Amino acid sequence: MLEKIILFGGTFDPIHKGHIEVAICAAKKVGASKIIIIPARRSPHKHKQPVAHDTDRIAMLQLAIKGLEGVEISNVELNRGEPSYTIDTVRQLREKFGEFCEFYWLIGADMLPSLPLWHKIIELLDECNVCVMNRGGYEKPDFDGLRGKLKPELIENLRNNMIETPLIEMSSTEIRQGIIDGKDVSAFLQPEVWDYIKRRKIYLPVDFE
Ligand code: ATP
Repeated sequence: MLEKIILFGGTFDPIHKGHIEVAICAAKKVGASKIIIIPARRSPHKHKQPVAHDTDRIAMLQLAIKGLEGVEISNVELNRGEPSYTIDTVRQLREKFGEFCEFYWLIGADMLPSLPLWHKIIELLDECNVCVMNRGGYEKPDFDGLRGKLKPELIENLRNNMIETPLIEMSSTEIRQGIIDGKDVSAFLQPEVWDYIKRRKIYLPVDFE
């Protein structure tokens, strides 16, 4: 039988409870034995840069997955040169894990509209199951909105691959802003991650007293 593996890419700046909860829920729903979290690297070519350094994002990920069975972190994207694309990540992991596994690449509903623009999207959709999840605070995934941008059968596959995850209103952007505004964001983060952020003063302006 094929081993099912969840691939979950993102900036994780920082990783929040919502990330963990939807990934675990998705793994249960598809029957995956493994979740691989893949932090994206800082890219001089992307205008939206992670605020925290790669080492801090990795450290927070390690704290967040401590004790979670079957959850691991992959450095494939952090170690790759520019440009770095999801299709390259999937192919690299395919080489590592071999042909007897099935990949499920998770994206939140907010990412669906831009999916047709991803590099080599047709090949990516052929080489792994791209699975859209609900995201609290966003509309339900609009598969019909992809008409004219992807072939109808690919849109149908995406629709069928959708994973009904709980609606969780959390985002790393809001957490970072909350920290700057002095709000209590502890409920959104695992305690060890929150301790790390406080200790290292990540996300606070450099001139913060
Ligand atoms: P930012 O607010 O900075 O964009 P984010 O919270 O979206 O950050 P990312 O690291 O960019 O976090 O997200 C990684 C993946 O997780 C993306 O596919 C995103 O859509 C998904 N995701 C993030 N938060 C949620 C959530 N609350 N529910 C479902 N999916 C989520």
